[in-house]
Amino acid sequence: MRIAEGGRGIEKELLFMGYYDKQKIQILRRERCPPESEPVCWRPLMTCIFCHIIARQLPTEIIYENADLVVFKDINPQAPVHLLIVPKKHIESINAVDEKTAEIFSKMVLAAKTMAERHGVQSGYRLMINNGREAGQVVYHLHMHFLGGWGKRPVKR
Ligand code: AMP
Ligand code: ZN
Repeated sequence: MRIAEGGRGIEKELLFMGYYDKQKIQILRRERCPPESEPVCWRPLMTCIFCHIIARQLPTEIIYENADLVVFKDINPQAPVHLLIVPKKHIESINAVDEKTAEIFSKMVLAAKTMAERHGVQSGYRLMINNGREAGQVVYHLHMHFLGGWGKRPVKR
């Protein structure tokens, strides 16, 4: 699924398109290429999709932000309320956390508490971090899943 496409024409070199496709998340860069070969000139750019969201280079709605982290909705929700709590600093996973950076976890938990209050789900929510390929980590930028809202009644339309 395309989530963003920027700019027009092939003259600009840095036009980003991000997409999420089950196992695959990539940022593609449109490169200068002969007109007859369009539109196959999107090449993978080895970069981090969450860093692009934080830099506002993708149109993801950031629902909460402070000096250390951002929160946005998961694009593929596994619960009525499924948020991602993401440090602004690029840290690949828990394996890359050290004594200096470990304080980010308390900040992430406090953001989770704030999200629970804002979404009215203090009665129950789950916080989860997938660490490493075997545990299902897909995006290598540290993030905490906030899952909740199971008791919320669907809004009548
Ligand atoms: P993990 O398996 O812990 O690495 O989780 C990565 C999560 O990021 C998945 O639940 C995806 O649905 C979510 N995700 C990937 N790309 C985006 C995006 N552009 N916006 C919001 N959520 C995303
Ligand atoms: Zn990153």
